[in-house]
Amino acid sequence: MVAATSSQPGVALDLETLLNELPKLTPHDRALITRAYEKAAWVHADQFRKSGEPYITHCLAVAHILADMKLDPEAIAAALMHDVVEDSKDQKKVTVEDLRSGFGDTIANIVDGVTKLDQIKTEQTPEQRRSRTAERDLEYIRKMALTLDSDVRVVIVKLADRLHNMRTLGYMRPEKQQAIARETLDIFAPLANRLGIWQIKSELEDLSFRYLQPETYRQIDDAVNEGRAEREKYMAGVIEELRRELVRNGLQDTAISGRPKHIYSIWKKMERKKVNFEKIFDVRAVRVIVEQREQCYMVLGLVHNLWRPIPGEFDDYIAQPKDNFYQSLHTAVVDRNGKQIEVQIRTWEMHEHAEYGIAAHWRYKEGRKKQKDPDFEKRVAYLRHLMEFGRGQKNESPAEFVDAMKSDFFGERIYVFTPKGDIVDLPAGSTPVDFAYHIHTDIGHRCRGAKVHGRIVSLDYQLKTGDQVDIITSKRGGPSLDWLNPNLGFVHTQRAREKIRYWYRKQNRANNITSGREVLDRELKRLGLVDSMPYEQVSAAFSIEHVDDFLAQVGAGDINGGQISNKILDLERKEQEALERETLKARAGGPSQLLDSTVATGVEINGEAGLHYSIANCCHPVPGDKLKGFITRGRGVTVHRADCPNLGQEPDRLTDVTWGKVSHEQRFSVPVEITAYDRSGLMKDISTMVAEERVNMSEVNVGVRNTIATFRLTLELTDLQHLGRILTRISGVPGVTEVRRTSA
Ligand code: MN
Repeated sequence: MVAATSSQPGVALDLETLLNELPKLTPHDRALITRAYEKAAWVHADQFRKSGEPYITHCLAVAHILADMKLDPEAIAAALMHDVVEDSKDQKKVTVEDLRSGFGDTIANIVDGVTKLDQIKTEQTPEQRRSRTAERDLEYIRKMALTLDSDVRVVIVKLADRLHNMRTLGYMRPEKQQAIARETLDIFAPLANRLGIWQIKSELEDLSFRYLQPETYRQIDDAVNEGRAEREKYMAGVIEELRRELVRNGLQDTAISGRPKHIYSIWKKMERKKVNFEKIFDVRAVRVIVEQREQCYMVLGLVHNLWRPIPGEFDDYIAQPKDNFYQSLHTAVVDRNGKQIEVQIRTWEMHEHAEYGIAAHWRYKEGRKKQKDPDFEKRVAYLRHLMEFGRGQKNESPAEFVDAMKSDFFGERIYVFTPKGDIVDLPAGSTPVDFAYHIHTDIGHRCRGAKVHGRIVSLDYQLKTGDQVDIITSKRGGPSLDWLNPNLGFVHTQRAREKIRYWYRKQNRANNITSGREVLDRELKRLGLVDSMPYEQVSAAFSIEHVDDFLAQVGAGDINGGQISNKILDLERKEQEALERETLKARAGGPSQLLDSTVATGVEINGEAGLHYSIANCCHPVPGDKLKGFITRGRGVTVHRADCPNLGQEPDRLTDVTWGKVSHEQRFSVPVEITAYDRSGLMKDISTMVAEERVNMSEVNVGVRNTIATFRLTLELTDLQHLGRILTRISGVPGVTEVRRTSA
């Protein structure tokens, strides 16, 4: 739930309120904050917010957010002046050097850091937004990584700044609201989570969600408010019962409270578990805070004694903290009325870290000198380790790079073990190859196989927490170019990918041309095009004039097999469609006839989600394909692939469409044609492969002529990458000569 604080918009803020919020300031600190306020008030004197309020209210609000978290006076002073350098000019110009002489290095450096982060501006139009988002995200992450080397308070001030801007987002233009809310949900909320600042994270999520999905937000909010009184009464009973039990067992000084859930987390849980609101909210949540760690386990025992524990719901994040250093015991029980209750148990110290994360390090403690804090150093080192990465490669779009980076940095982590029992943490989805590169670059290069718990696994095996991994290496030799092909799933982390690329880039040109030719030949063979598609045509499709240059790039790992097969499939499809264009047009009389009856969700039309549309039945786009919308008469927008020949020649009936949020559950129909030498068991082999990829076949047609079998299948799958992987795998089935995506 969004915490109500004095820094909410509409509440008058002033210096006195701020100072009173910080208890027991020394006269020196009081003077420091007052001077910072006066500096900011002077610079922003004739500036106003979009809301019409004087600009200084924003500075006070940001400082208040930090004061709520009880941050130290230097952070508060920097928060007051965070916009001073950027927004001052002419006679009132204030530089970082001015701040350095007036307020000292620490404060000047924080303001400088925030100013630099601010130099990445939000783009204005939806088009600009789409093309720039990835690059901007990337730059943010890079700048934040640098920030960690100077002072983490820069990021904390920036988060507070974003939080206040989100609270006052209502005054912005709608497009701008969407862009800022999206960026907040993509970058700032995950960052707050990574830093462990739960308070800011949950409010940022709720505010973004409110702008991105106003309807859903309102529904959940209403539902939360509706049964509130009744729920609170019930919780009071539960808490009382638990308190009596704890006191009876000698635990007097515990704090027990109902735990509010925020709207975004309720929604995510509804999505994840595919259940309705009642089901989620029927679960009540209690938090118990105790003095000492041992008492946590005592309370756990008493809770399990009082109510029936639900098997599989107990997690000990004290013995094994989460990757953002969160510690607590989690369990779930059923009370005597059959209601489910989630219980969190932690100490005050753990609680402080859970609420404030890394910011807890700078909490203002009276009369206590800041000491070296090994835990804090460890956390910063860990964050820096997560953020370490090289530069994106020229053939990789910023979007791909950012996706990989985001999943490395923001995503879930797993913990696996070396044969000696050392813990290694990796992003979820990592494979033995990622593990090998994590241990040592050279082990990665020479990795040829892997064992998990002593059993041989394939190199695309997805590691799970608790796996013990043993890498089998060769004496010499290098990595495989296949590892760079995302369709094959050998490598998940950006770091491993870069090390492989680096290895190939160091090879000489002749070697690269040779291995490039091998990769290209193999892709052509898989697609059954060895004789019909010349190298020149593929090279030209990548806009590279000389075939040898192209092969050298492939051999250097700058272009991977997956990109080649996608490009070839694309060329093939275009040729095919050029042939079919005339007949289709004559038959269908225009694209509006080719409607799929189902209405799916997940595309944004002209930057807007939630509009009525249907997926075209002629070209069957899947997430990853470029899109174009055709405005039909009376049936909303039909979504085609951007290069679908059926789009026709009426530009004013076309509209921009991009993929929005598509749920992992959603499946898209894709017609596929397979050509193979007929043999017994062929169909079974193909269907096994398809089933392994967890894909449905909704239509199957088989024709056999001479000894050649042609299968026409409709596959139900999630996205372009999924399609690429299946095509690659099917093409490896013995006898198969060609696999390709077709039009209807
Ligand atoms: Mn600001």
